[in-house]
Amino acid sequence: MTLKLDFLVFGAHADDAEIGMGGTIAKHAKAGCRIGVCDLTLAEMSSNGTIERRRAEAEEAARALGLASRSNLELPDRGLVSDPAFIQRIVAEIRLHRPRVVFAPYWEDRHPDHTACSRLVQEAVFNAKLRKYMPELPAHTVEETYFYFINDTAEPDVMIDVSSVYASKQASLRAYRSQFETSGADVVRTPLNQGYLERVEARDSLLGQKRSVAYAEGFITKLPYMPVRFQ
Ligand SMILES: [Zn+2]
Repeated sequence: MTLKLDFLVFGAHADDAEIGMGGTIAKHAKAGCRIGVCDLTLAEMSSNGTIERRRAEAEEAARALGLASRSNLELPDRGLVSDPAFIQRIVAEIRLHRPRVVFAPYWEDRHPDHTACSRLVQEAVFNAKLRKYMPELPAHTVEETYFYFINDTAEPDVMIDVSSVYASKQASLRAYRSQFETSGADVVRTPLNQGYLERVEARDSLLGQKRSVAYAEGFITKLPYMPVRFQ
């Protein structure tokens, strides 16, 4: 049984979606939207944590956000090259869930996997609407594609006030203890466990200041924004 989704959010690693748009997910899930997150890799190259632990953390984060589904394509971490087979996997995910809106990481980011994910998802959104591409699955046209920020930001085209659900975003991020915790004999220092969560909060707070709200998340679109289709 295929789960029809309103929003489908792609990330290279579990925690990308939460960092960029955990509040927007929580807010819309609370309002009744069916939202899924699809992680492209198991983040098996991460310095801290194991695949099993990260899977459990991703499930915990999914519950904190009220996700309708969470999937993992198990593509190679640090190997998200522009492979037609990878695009096909993403197209299949889009066609199975038939979302109205797709979200991908912003196309500029210091982590190459995030930019690679962005590029692969854009190609897949395009191919998903082509009837003669993978004809065994019905074609699907995604109405809107929005890009969320992970490490790097730009002036957003859209901002969502996430103040009322910020605790849910923080809970989803705290689920990734293997990435953000600083104690433990075998914990390797990475940017994620050196004040990263505080910086995410500061970023969301700073953006909120533009509209006098406590916290906001920003998005970029390559097409002119039509507000009635987003909320
Ligand atoms: Zn990531």
